[in-house]
Amino acid sequence: MTVRPIGVEVACDGPTGRDDCPNSAAIPAAITSLTARQVRADGRADGWTTRRTPGRLLDLCPNCRHARTRAPEEPTR
Ligand SMILES: [Zn+2]
Repeated sequence: MTVRPIGVEVACDGPTGRDDCPNSAAIPAAITSLTARQVRADGRADGWTTRRTPGRLLDLCPNCRHARTRAPEEPTR
């Protein structure tokens, strides 16, 4: 086990923001990234995205970003 000085961990909130991420994913932050803002910048390079909802910000990993059929704000076709 390696001990790392993690300032903040940004983990995926899952496709709906209510369920756990099926991949239990977290952004692999660069060693120099100590704030949520910096870690999210690292994540964007890997395809992570954020979704703004009332009251909070959801972090979505590349897998959940494409799992849109379960998201409440996405209309069913
Ligand atoms: Zn996810």
